[in-house]
Amino acid sequence: MSEENKVLNFIEEIVEDDIRNNRHGGRILTRFPPEPNGYLHIGHAKSICLNFGLSMKYGGKTNLRFDDTNPVTEEVEYIESIKDDIKWLGFDWGNREFFASDYFQQIFNFAVNLIKQGKAYVDDLSSEEIANLKGSPTIAGTPSPHRDRTVEENLTLFEEMRQGKFKEGEKVLRAKIDLASPNMHMRDPIMYRILFTPHHRTGKEWCIYPMYDFAHGQSDSIEGITHSICTLEFENHRPLYNWYIDNIGIFPSRQIEFARLNLNYTVMSKRKLLQLVKENLVSGWDDPRMPTIRGMRRRGYTALGLRNFATSVGIAKRNNLIELSLLEHSVREDLNKIATRVMVVSDPLRVEILNYPKDKLEWLQVENNSEDPNSGKHEIPFSATIFIEQEDYMDNPPPKFFRLTKGGLARLKSAYIIECVDVEYDELGKVSSLKCNYFPESKSGSDTSGLKPKTTIHWVESNHALDISLRLYDRLFTVEEPDKQEGDFKEYMNPNSLVINNNAKGEPYLKTAFLDNVKHFQFLRKAYYVFDQDSTSDKLICNRTVELKDTFSKPK
Ligand code: ATP
Ligand code: MG
Repeated sequence: MSEENKVLNFIEEIVEDDIRNNRHGGRILTRFPPEPNGYLHIGHAKSICLNFGLSMKYGGKTNLRFDDTNPVTEEVEYIESIKDDIKWLGFDWGNREFFASDYFQQIFNFAVNLIKQGKAYVDDLSSEEIANLKGSPTIAGTPSPHRDRTVEENLTLFEEMRQGKFKEGEKVLRAKIDLASPNMHMRDPIMYRILFTPHHRTGKEWCIYPMYDFAHGQSDSIEGITHSICTLEFENHRPLYNWYIDNIGIFPSRQIEFARLNLNYTVMSKRKLLQLVKENLVSGWDDPRMPTIRGMRRRGYTALGLRNFATSVGIAKRNNLIELSLLEHSVREDLNKIATRVMVVSDPLRVEILNYPKDKLEWLQVENNSEDPNSGKHEIPFSATIFIEQEDYMDNPPPKFFRLTKGGLARLKSAYIIECVDVEYDELGKVSSLKCNYFPESKSGSDTSGLKPKTTIHWVESNHALDISLRLYDRLFTVEEPDKQEGDFKEYMNPNSLVINNNAKGEPYLKTAFLDNVKHFQFLRKAYYVFDQDSTSDKLICNRTVELKDTFSKPK
């Protein structure tokens, strides 16, 4: 479907409506506001694609704003990784990189403005007492004994809070709105609290920090954000968001909520992902099983695959659970176009070709990727000893289960047809090697043999074969919604989410490809793979990105 024919999602409808009405002179400015307290995950990728996608579609811009108003959980390490991941995804914020902490003075001034209007007060109650007096949705809250302090008293106390004259928890600044509001967020929400933790950017300059609700919207207004897109949990914060805009008289950014992306068989909250990292249940934020962008990059997911996924899941107004298989589908679609085809045998069975000259070596040409006419070719060696997959030979294959069998034929992909003439077994009765004959006139591309084997199998020449370590990843959890189960979500981790195979044999071209910086591969009939970052030219480690849906070995 072309871009123009697509039905607009509800956010695009709002934006187009605003453009039609010349709201803000038709200007579109969105923002992506990560809190630098963890690495980005696929949910963030969705938000990035949405915000940058909108501004690109409507000729606008997108700010990157670090929402760094909580000095306790934030680390500089995360800031660099976040920027790197956004760039990798393919988006550019130009020079529009901002920090909410840069606005601390302006936000402080907004608070003073509200105090002067009699719309904010310093409260001595503890956060627990404040919560207890808040009432319930049907019962109005009880006013704090400090609610009616004079403007002068409030200005003095707030200034003293800033100067560090009080201990943490001793005082807070609250908005004076409506203790009977059916919306609990409007019942005199806390605007500022005291925290003596140094901030990664402002150091010890501040010991009072604005709460999310008194920082996020204010930062939006300061930057002139036209459409402030956030997830559904913030829907009932919107009246407060607007109350601050109206009462301080700042730029009227508009908050729009959409359903956060949830994926099955995984957890997405940074707090939970941090637990997995800290407790060494995964190897790090970039463990290929993690739903982080880092992890997915290392796993071999492509930026285009993730962007296509973000588009295909659409924008919902109601929370839902998206299938992991949809993500895999998008990744597979991209990899099919770009991955170099190679042969790797994961469970090798030695095959001796009796009628092929012992000391002969042939180099056969194979296409890198038949889906891409410009991808070129590479060479694979062929000789009298090769490896095939153990499972591709069977003494007695069940009906319609085409395998090489004694007396049977198989085509070696891109090479010759062989016939199995003898089988050797080890002392446990397991097949240990095969003796075959080949048909010289059956060479791929110039086959005149007239033979019609029912199966084509992959193989690797033995003398040039490379030892390859394969890391096979599976979903990290055994249940669809690990955080909705009884007990701890970590009890539902999949014990087989990583299986390592150090026995695989790969064609020699893989080493050249590694040195040439080729990354993505389809191991024929197996899966898509990527070189792990720990690979060296002497020790190739490959991560299984995603399995193949169909294989060419099925008979026509
Ligand atoms: P988490 O709950 O996973 O810790 P967060 O919302 O606290 O995430 P932020 O750094 O505050 O993380 O998020 C930055 C932006 O990404 C916000 O605009 C947020 O709405 C958006 N976002 C976070 N998670 C998702 C998700 N699962 N789907 C869509 N957008 C998300
Ligand atoms: Mg957050």
